[in-house]
Amino acid sequence: QRSEAEVVMISVSSYACQRRTSLINHNAVLTDALSLLPHNAELNEDEGRGLAFRRAAAVLKFLPEPVTTTTPLRGLPCLGEHSLRVIEDILQDGASREVESTKRSERFKALKVLNGIFGVGVKTADRWIRAGIRYLQPLQGSGETLSRAQRAGLRYYDDLNQPVSRAEADAVGEIVEKAAVSVLPGARMTLIGGFRRGKLTGHDVDFLLTHPEEGREEGLMPKVVSRLESEGFLLYQKTTRNSYLESEDGPARSSSSMDRFQKCFSIFKLSRGEEGGAEQTGNGESLTPSGQEAWRAVRVDLVVSPVSQSAFALLGWTGSKLFEREMRRWARREKAMSLSSHALYDTRQRRYLRASSEEEIFALLGLEFIPPSERNA
Ligand code: ATP
Ligand code: MN
Ligand code: MN
Repeated sequence: QRSEAEVVMISVSSYACQRRTSLINHNAVLTDALSLLPHNAELNEDEGRGLAFRRAAAVLKFLPEPVTTTTPLRGLPCLGEHSLRVIEDILQDGASREVESTKRSERFKALKVLNGIFGVGVKTADRWIRAGIRYLQPLQGSGETLSRAQRAGLRYYDDLNQPVSRAEADAVGEIVEKAAVSVLPGARMTLIGGFRRGKLTGHDVDFLLTHPEEGREEGLMPKVVSRLESEGFLLYQKTTRNSYLESEDGPARSSSSMDRFQKCFSIFKLSRGEEGGAEQTGNGESLTPSGQEAWRAVRVDLVVSPVSQSAFALLGWTGSKLFEREMRRWARREKAMSLSSHALYDTRQRRYLRASSEEEIFALLGLEFIPPSERNA
């Protein structure tokens, strides 16, 4: 039992990578409301403001109990006037006028629908909304040229907007691991992304592939992909080539937040498994007894890393996105280092610092180790 005065005394780092944020959120009402606002800000090309709301929400997620007044929040980092006003409104009136009017706006509703299509980013969604396209149906007849990803996104829209369960993630994992080991004996697969942080559902499933012998992982991705393809597991896939080998400026100096590993963004055809009780109906269509289709589409991301970079890849692909961002900010601002999913570069010593585990990377950055389950900022 903690009194309000004591809550004020909790010292809260302004860096999310110095906070242990589990999945238990005592302030979900507030963080849900705050997390609507970045969408709006970012849509209006205001990335800085969007990030400010995300940081504010992350501080609330970290608090050990529900907030009942804004008074004890005044001394905490990352909670600006705007965020505090939204919180105050919700605590006093049960809702924030700004959040409610955002939710009701045609623009926001359309953005949610269109941005929910795999392959459609905020910019494209925005362009379509300006052209008067607000829903899926009008989009299909609009004459807009759609990319291959967007066409797949439309086709599997309902499935892909259905959260992926942990059981489904594990089922995909078995398939991927089998394929990887069969094309490259000794290949290793690790579940990354939200599921590694202990989330019970996800919007996709993410896997890291590597091989304990440096160099053996080369060419692994196309082999795994064609294996999966020949087994009929892929409804869609787009593989990017790696580019860390030919980069002149070194692995950690990428200006973009995108890394240079070989990646595959895919849509899996996953059978509904035991609980669905799939049955072949004879006419090619297979339905479960309840009339559901016997399979569903699931988004799956694969990334291949050489073992020398795999600790960085693991850290960089475990998330959360804000946690990653904050680690990089910490490295840059407090340590004059540059952290990426490939490496850690010390700008003062002008050299790369090697690490073969996440623990070592935290230590090199002078940070206390935070396990994946507490990186849910
Ligand atoms: P969800 O449950 O919604 O999938 P998640 O945390 O797994 O949540 P993802 O979008 O799958 O979110 O991303 C997982 C991690 O991989 C994040 O930390 C993100 O920074 C990293 N990541 C995702 N896509 C890329 C990319 N193209 N390049 C580099 N890193 C990426
Ligand atoms: Mn994910
Ligand atoms: Mn992903």
